[in-house]
Amino acid sequence: MSSTFTYQFDTPVYNGAVTFPTQLFINGEFVDPIHKGTIDVINPTTGKIITQVSVGTREDIEVATQAARTAYKGRWGLRVPGAERSKLLHKLANLIETNTDYLAALEALNVGKTFYGAKMIDIPTAVSILRYYAGWADKIQGKSIQTTPDKIGFTRHEPIGVVGAIVPWNFPLMNVIMKLAPALACGNTVVAKPSEFTPLSALFFCTLIQEAGFPPGVVNIVTGYGNTAGQAISESMKIDKVAFTGSTATGRKIMEAAARSNLKKISLELGGKSPNVIFDDADLEQAVKWAINGIFANQGEVCVAGSRIYVQAGIYDDFLQKFTESARHLPLGDPFSPDTFQGPLISGIQFERVMSYIKSGQAEGATLHLGGKQHGTEGYFIQPTIFTSCKPDMKIVQEEIFGPVAVVIKFTTEEEVIEQANDTAYGLACSVFTKDIDRAMRVVGDVEAGTAWVNFSNYPDLGLPFGGFKQSGIGRDLGEYALENYTNVKAVHVNIGMRI
Ligand code: NAD
Repeated sequence: MSSTFTYQFDTPVYNGAVTFPTQLFINGEFVDPIHKGTIDVINPTTGKIITQVSVGTREDIEVATQAARTAYKGRWGLRVPGAERSKLLHKLANLIETNTDYLAALEALNVGKTFYGAKMIDIPTAVSILRYYAGWADKIQGKSIQTTPDKIGFTRHEPIGVVGAIVPWNFPLMNVIMKLAPALACGNTVVAKPSEFTPLSALFFCTLIQEAGFPPGVVNIVTGYGNTAGQAISESMKIDKVAFTGSTATGRKIMEAAARSNLKKISLELGGKSPNVIFDDADLEQAVKWAINGIFANQGEVCVAGSRIYVQAGIYDDFLQKFTESARHLPLGDPFSPDTFQGPLISGIQFERVMSYIKSGQAEGATLHLGGKQHGTEGYFIQPTIFTSCKPDMKIVQEEIFGPVAVVIKFTTEEEVIEQANDTAYGLACSVFTKDIDRAMRVVGDVEAGTAWVNFSNYPDLGLPFGGFKQSGIGRDLGEYALENYTNVKAVHVNIGMRI
């Protein structure tokens, strides 16, 4: 990558980094919260404050929800032709694309992910998702269902109403857009809450919503904490659906709140502990590269991270040696440096959490084969870490770590590895590496996961559904399947001859 990037954000003084309002975005305007309060936004590379943003509370969520309701009944929803919605979504996509460098820089500054990764993956993916659903906006249609000669039956796929979107910090803008694009394409309006750790790209995005010309209230973004603003969204009687991405623990709370309030519809994209199964006949070099990418890309802060690597006995030693050498040499450091592969973890809390898993692995008797320590003295960096000699019931094998920590486990037979791969509460994704297509298809069929990759990993596709089996979630993002999250089906029966 050429290092032509010119935003010099990552200096001890962040003056000039944030050139947009940091209030709440409600009804098309930036407004102060009802109760005064700010959140410090931290740069995880240094641990220093970048800026402060407003804290939205329950009352702000109520105001935003009212704005979204009014917009839904007025200048959006069923009354706006799909082609109009499509035009605005395309306009928004173009504006994001024009601002790719700035948005990628905000993500690198605020999340600690590499600028190069954000520029090449996060922002272009957000643009593509918007364009994909812009294409759907005028194709949301029901079916004609003829059951008897004296009746015409058909279905209408109507918007649900006001959608609450609650998202995490690992791909901040992309996560917002993964909910917002299909919701808007189907004619809903949105109240979104970004993670309290990473509000910046979503706030800049609000200026692009204004510039694109969305009617006020169609998109509202309220920054704030999960247990207040997030909880208010899930408990609201006036929000018709919650689209959530985040941890399984929070997903449970959202489901409970939805059940206690108005039984709003929910879709949940939750945690994972994805198995990466590598058979003796796999292309070893490729398997090593995909496994590295699978667990260490984005610092391991990826829901589908291939954190459990099962390797067949015949290639186990070779794989481990190559995987370890490759992990040992991954460049850690400044996310803005073109050479960096791995940046810091998102926060001090996440740093402590990952370190406590590393300690628990050692305490439970696994072998710390590589890494396990802080990298450098500033920020929240953890070395790429590999454990071997693990037992199936160890915490590091069972629980989502959400950091650069892999367990590498030897297996002998296909039956044995399927059993181990499925021995988890999660079911988000899996990868299988083999040249034997029959075996690949058997494993794909037997593994309990919403996504299965054959001979690669950690590579979602916008056109294919994305979501989890078991405790990894409910519903599917992406592709045509996501439209089901954001539409109500109405059956219409027209009498053309029945008389009583
Ligand atoms: P988190 O669950 O702590 O927070 C996610 C969001 O929920 C944040 O905006 C937070 O403020 C909000 N929240 C917290 N408590 C809430 C409550 N009581 N009510 C309503 N909202 C609340 O998750 P995180 O730490 O931000 O992200 C990491 C987790 O996200 C991991 O478990 C990861 O696997 C998961 N994730 C899943 C996917 C997927 O598509 N399956 C994608 C990315 C991340």
